[in-house]
Amino acid sequence: MSRNVPNKIYLPESKMPKQWLNLQAVMPEKPDPYINPGTMKPAVPSDFEGLFSCELVAQEFNSVDKFIDIPREIQKYFKMYRPSPLIRAYALEKELKTPAKIYYKYEGNNTSGSHKLNSALPQVYYNKKEGIKALTTETGAGQWGTALAIACAFYKMPLTIFMVKGSYEQKPYRKALMNVFGSTVIASPSLTTNVGRQINKDFPGTNGSLGCAISEAVEYAVTHPKSKYVLGSVLNQVLLHQSIVGLETKEQLALYDEYPDVLIGCAGGGSNLGGIIAPFIKDKVDGTGNPHIIAVEPASCPSLTRGVYAYDFGDTGHMTPICKMYTLGSTFMPSNIHAGGLRYHGMAPIVSKLYHDKLIDEARAERQTEVFKAAVLFAKCEALIPAPESSHAIKVAIDEAIKAREEGKAKTIVFCLSGHGNLDLSAYTNYLEGGLDDYIPTEEDLSKLRQALPKV
Ligand SMILES: *Cc1c(COP(=O)(O)O)cnc(C)c1O
Repeated sequence: MSRNVPNKIYLPESKMPKQWLNLQAVMPEKPDPYINPGTMKPAVPSDFEGLFSCELVAQEFNSVDKFIDIPREIQKYFKMYRPSPLIRAYALEKELKTPAKIYYKYEGNNTSGSHKLNSALPQVYYNKKEGIKALTTETGAGQWGTALAIACAFYKMPLTIFMVKGSYEQKPYRKALMNVFGSTVIASPSLTTNVGRQINKDFPGTNGSLGCAISEAVEYAVTHPKSKYVLGSVLNQVLLHQSIVGLETKEQLALYDEYPDVLIGCAGGGSNLGGIIAPFIKDKVDGTGNPHIIAVEPASCPSLTRGVYAYDFGDTGHMTPICKMYTLGSTFMPSNIHAGGLRYHGMAPIVSKLYHDKLIDEARAERQTEVFKAAVLFAKCEALIPAPESSHAIKVAIDEAIKAREEGKAKTIVFCLSGHGNLDLSAYTNYLEGGLDDYIPTEEDLSKLRQALPKV
């Protein structure tokens, strides 16, 4: 029997994670190696060291150590906003008349508004330690840019951010936040880089994409001395840092003798999902637990459910290493849906491999109108405006709770609420006024893109 569970569960300091969990080392089969696009041979750490800090490259390639120490300085900073609360959605349960217990891990309770700060801090920390003088990055919806701007302000590190043009125009307050923390924000595709100028020429009037912005940020980093590039999702190192989300969740549940039957996360590049599932994947591998894990993506950018598992570029300009992942093709230009953080053409190699090997049990693609409907219901019950990205997980959590009611089964549903939507109110307005559509790519659209996959 579980004890009387409070609305919000925190953690005593003694139970706070001191180490990250490295999924790469836990997985029975490792993701396929990165390929160097110059030599078309498996990439080695030195291929990455021009672009990333050495310590982060070491983490990227570490498939041996199951646990990696969180630097003391980072643990100390985490105390400002961690642990994030694990919240029992009592009001939503009541509204749905479900016998299921619903918990959400709320990562929106820091100023950046999402889980992205968990990886921004260590990435800036390692770069600073290695004497790097400036950083560049891209941001889609703006959450990663904000998180990195906050971390860079703390470490007095100059930062240039290429922001996907569609978001730059839709979300002026995100840009303002980044500026407050001292970062330079450039709309992408821009006229600042060669690749940006080329994309502007090939796709006049484009709203941009994450793939374009990545190419610009990479070019900017390699053409400026003592500059490095950092990335907010997809990479093994980012999933490593995000494991803190899952490690805390597991401890928080254990305080009340709880364990998930169903575990849900939205998936853009795969980092909040990879983070919350990390310790539970370890349980599956060790045979000590077996939650049903569901990844949720937008129907308009369905990399897991309709993409192919193949080697592809991480960016539109083909400057990054080639990785094996579920992909829609690196030239995929997603429609302008409001879940900007879920508009990436690929998926983290670790998440892709886990899905391919069925350690992630299921992936679902949801339409944005249905997602906003779930978000508004959730907001009314739980007094919290979820990010459009996170609302994909909410949609599936609600579906699972309704299924539990229909089956008369009590089960424990846990999902990651990756961020708040307080700066996405124009999207909510758009939904409430009936202005949202559900563009879903056709098979023809997708098969055309597949022909452009690199031959490896
Ligand atoms: C960036 C972002 C996502 C998508 O990125 P993942 O790497 O898949 O987690 C989801 N939710 C929020 C709130 C985000 O900011």
